[in-house]
Amino acid sequence: MSIPGLTRLRAARVAVAVVVLAVAGSPGLAQTSQDIEAALQAAYAKYKDLKEGKNADYIPALAKVDPQLFGIALVTTDGRVYTVGDVKSEVSIQSISKVFTMAKVMEEQGPEAIAKRIGVDATGMRFNSIVSIEFAQKELGGPEMNALVNPGAITATSMVSGGSRDDIWQKILAFHSDFAGRPLRVDEEVFKSEAATNQRNQAIGQLMYAYEFIKDNPQRAVDIYTEQCAIAVNARDLAVMAATLANAGKNPVTGKQVMKADNVPEVLAVMATAGLYDDSGKWLYRTGLPAKSGVGGGIIAVSPGKFGIAVVSPPLDEAGNSVRAQKAIADISAQLGGNPYEPQAPKLRTSQK
Ligand code: GLU
Repeated sequence: MSIPGLTRLRAARVAVAVVVLAVAGSPGLAQTSQDIEAALQAAYAKYKDLKEGKNADYIPALAKVDPQLFGIALVTTDGRVYTVGDVKSEVSIQSISKVFTMAKVMEEQGPEAIAKRIGVDATGMRFNSIVSIEFAQKELGGPEMNALVNPGAITATSMVSGGSRDDIWQKILAFHSDFAGRPLRVDEEVFKSEAATNQRNQAIGQLMYAYEFIKDNPQRAVDIYTEQCAIAVNARDLAVMAATLANAGKNPVTGKQVMKADNVPEVLAVMATAGLYDDSGKWLYRTGLPAKSGVGGGIIAVSPGKFGIAVVSPPLDEAGNSVRAQKAIADISAQLGGNPYEPQAPKLRTSQK
């Protein structure tokens, strides 16, 4: 059967998007509001006093954030918001912004632009590895990169269209704000602190330009990237952003279609591949959830068609992921049947198998 104007692949993707939307239109979760609240409360109580991990300090302003800060928010695809702990205090979004800038490029140029220019493989190296850039040279035959590690993320920022720095920046900020459902702002102290200490990212930008991943003005790309990392968000904002991805690109709280449903599967695929730094595989194995963490202490995770969840807690483990956020999200998702790879109908169980 031929569908005019659509390739087979495109038609299949549209069909998937329609199914995702149909799922999103129903409550998606089998559990009651009381079950969801109980799952959040239990995780909060269990990890509130956990002292493991340490704030990031390579960006000096991050070391000053209160390590006690702990907030959990879950937003269902039908727009119900559940919170526990401090979900109002803001932290800088850091690497979580990479997801949304990548999505913005997909909106403007299609998902293939990201796959072709940057790549969609795990590098197997640190998020700000210089060696990974060398390996990505075709003649060396190493792994490609992806838009969730710094070289790929700075390249993605450079791909957002706009006549001036301000045009590009306002677009990126507005896109993040639409996901969060409120106007977001930049934490100027974090922006200045990182701008004064981001020599490594500047070097990455230059190298990406030398190898023609970035087509022009690498300084501007690094500068905008640094500013996007300093966007201030709280746990509730992050959960609404995650829920918008869970809800096929439509913000379930504001009702705005923020990105094309058709591009969401590719965004989630890159999150699943590379969302939690060097522990991305371990995370996916444990939870099955596409997720992204940032060195500010936030993690977002997406249960497609069901919910978005976010936790803010600044102390990080060796891999750079918030200790309490990983544990709380894993427990809550297990309780609610959030793992998209689970074949059986959602049921209540603990994360301990
Ligand atoms: N702005 C940080 C950097 O580029 C983001 C790191 C992160 O959250 O992974 O170093």
